Amino acid sequence: MSDTDNISHPYRPGGSSPRVLLRRLREVMAVEEGAQERLDKLTEAIASNMVADVCSIYLRRDDDVLELFATVGLKPAAVHKTRLAWGEGLVGFVALNAQPVSIGEAQSHPSFSFRPEVGEELLNAFLGVPIIRTGQVIGVLVVQNKVTRRYTEEEMEAAQLVATVLAEIVAAGDLLEKADTAEVDRVLHRAEQLQGSPIVDGIMIGVAALHEPPAPKHKVFAEDVAAEVQRLKAGIVRLQKSVDDMIAQNQQLSGISRDVIDVYRLFAYDKGWAKRLEEAVLSGLTCESAVEQVQAENRKRMRRATDPYIRERLHDLDDLSRRLLRSLSGKSRKDELKLPKKAILFAHSLGPAELLEFDRKKLAGIVLAEGSDTSHAAIVARSLGIPMVGRCSAAVDRVEVGDRAIVDGGSGEVHIRPDKDVIDAYKEKLALFSAAQQEYAKLRDLPCVTRDGTEIELFLNAGLALDMPHLETTGASGIGLFRTELQFLIGPQLPTSASQEELYTQVLDEAKGKPVVFRTADLGSDKAAPYMNVSRESNPAMGWRGLRMSIDREGLIRPQLRALLAAGANRELNILLPLVTIREEIIAAREIIDKEIDRRVRKKLPLPSTINVGAMVEIPSAAWRLEHIAPLVDFLSLGGNDLAQFFFAADRESDRMAGRYDPLHPGFLSFLGMAADKANRAGKPLTYCGEQAADPLMAMALMALDFLRISVSASSVGPLKKLIRALDLNDLTAWLEPRLQSSTHSLRSELQDYVTGHNLPLN
Ligand code: PEP
Ligand code: MG
Repeated sequence: MSDTDNISHPYRPGGSSPRVLLRRLREVMAVEEGAQERLDKLTEAIASNMVADVCSIYLRRDDDVLELFATVGLKPAAVHKTRLAWGEGLVGFVALNAQPVSIGEAQSHPSFSFRPEVGEELLNAFLGVPIIRTGQVIGVLVVQNKVTRRYTEEEMEAAQLVATVLAEIVAAGDLLEKADTAEVDRVLHRAEQLQGSPIVDGIMIGVAALHEPPAPKHKVFAEDVAAEVQRLKAGIVRLQKSVDDMIAQNQQLSGISRDVIDVYRLFAYDKGWAKRLEEAVLSGLTCESAVEQVQAENRKRMRRATDPYIRERLHDLDDLSRRLLRSLSGKSRKDELKLPKKAILFAHSLGPAELLEFDRKKLAGIVLAEGSDTSHAAIVARSLGIPMVGRCSAAVDRVEVGDRAIVDGGSGEVHIRPDKDVIDAYKEKLALFSAAQQEYAKLRDLPCVTRDGTEIELFLNAGLALDMPHLETTGASGIGLFRTELQFLIGPQLPTSASQEELYTQVLDEAKGKPVVFRTADLGSDKAAPYMNVSRESNPAMGWRGLRMSIDREGLIRPQLRALLAAGANRELNILLPLVTIREEIIAAREIIDKEIDRRVRKKLPLPSTINVGAMVEIPSAAWRLEHIAPLVDFLSLGGNDLAQFFFAADRESDRMAGRYDPLHPGFLSFLGMAADKANRAGKPLTYCGEQAADPLMAMALMALDFLRISVSASSVGPLKKLIRALDLNDLTAWLEPRLQSSTHSLRSELQDYVTGHNLPLN
């Protein structure tokens, strides 16, 4: 038995009864007969396999009523007569909560409701399992016994396995009369409005695409088991070969995170996994259904595992299952990346590099089950102007490829299969949105000055050449932060110095003399390019990343500095160092910069007219000792995303942490105020670059704390300018100061009251 065996095969039922049961279900399905007869035989098979006195199947009707469709043990006359409202009785309780329920003595449960027509007076033990398809409950499978007893974990898992198969055969139309199938189909394809968290503002009406598409529609039971086993074996061999090829390819590039690939390989060759799949196929399932079954068991286990290492491994296995499905269908990853026009991508989670793999002309909206607004995927989406909603797992579960969908990144609403009325309402909202944009455009050339005369400079956060036209359209003062690492994340290999020079030259040309701050590649953590040979760390955000990596690996930063100096020849060049922790790191970086300057001097190549070097303050140690950092640089930039992450010890990529702590926490604000004071005292310009400044309330607090240079994404410039021009900054500063001592967790509601009281425009 291999080491991974206990991970990949979490579920080991007593004996092989669930597989025997599946075989029995297959036999029932293989016989040509009427729908009701089949249903009756299925319930009989389940009851006898599980040694139950009663087995019943309830299905959901269009009006959200659960109708008894088949039973063994209850009165036959109740079939198609007994109808329970959603949430009524134990069966309705199971449906409502979409969770299995096992009770030793059903009649003592508060949800028990007595229905004389079914004849369940003598029944005690109750096990109800929801029948779920694409995240929707479409029915309930019930097993009951006369004796008072608790169903074992294994019996529950067996019932769940059967419920999964039932869901598939119901949806495939193999079990019900045509009219009933159509009704289930209607339930599954209803219009739905779901609420997530707003991440990137904007509205898109488009077509759903899935980042992890399910297996294509397939049969549940195989016709020829022996042939199916062969197909599985061939699929696994192809999968193993593709993993081997991937390894060979990456050896050549001498990159990639080795251990990830090694684990893939381990799993791909894991005999236990293959055996488990084979067992499922031998019980009569098709390869695709077998992969889905084993994968579902793993997922269940994944949810229970607390050890992050095991969770990570199980994610790998999940990914491997998807690869196997692809290998079985003969599709490639390329096929999966193909998007329809106006695609709204639904994904569980998404890294910045994955996002950039998609065709940007087609990718028009993003909905994530996870995701926070300071994650790097969010930053990339913002820079591309792609509306995005996060923490909306129900939408990701329920959507199907090709569904009409609407994403509203401003409110966090997601609509799937919307009715015409909803679409019309959104068209209207879109029109208003563009009217607001037109109004902001009118502000473009007006001064960005508060009502009481303080000038605020608004800059743009950027990272792609695509961002540059926004300088013109927004009238921003320059690029406050150019995240150069995005170029490193797009391609399959390290960008050459020449291609970096090309990008920086284009950026400077398009900036037409406005200042651009280039941050040297802030790689590592979640921004690890696949070709980089970076070993896994348990806390990568606090690991080898940013400036730490650059000064350890001159081979990474020197070609970049060479490209920057060349692109900046005869013009102003601003170089920003990310993730500074202590002053010695700046000294080390400056030495490397000097080496590249000397190189150009030796080669008699022109230098930039001015070279300014800045430090990004995004670690509390650097903010706390800013007076020691500031003298070593020409300018400062405050990275609020990372600073908040470390201040609150809350992972910015974690959806569980998203929104948990508010940057309007008075302690965080006074910490920021301290940094601003120190920068001002040192006479060094300071720009706030964190995404939080897109929130007008946060921008107000920042200005009151003396951040007079703020860098945001293009869509925030107009609304912020409108707000700034209406603001009395002296009044706000005096208002804020005493509140910084407050013990509350957030000044949000007080600031909101200030806005209302002063009639300030928010959006
Ligand atoms: C930050 O940390 O606030 C920042 C601007 O940099 P990034 O989001 O790229 O880490
Ligand atoms: Mg940062």
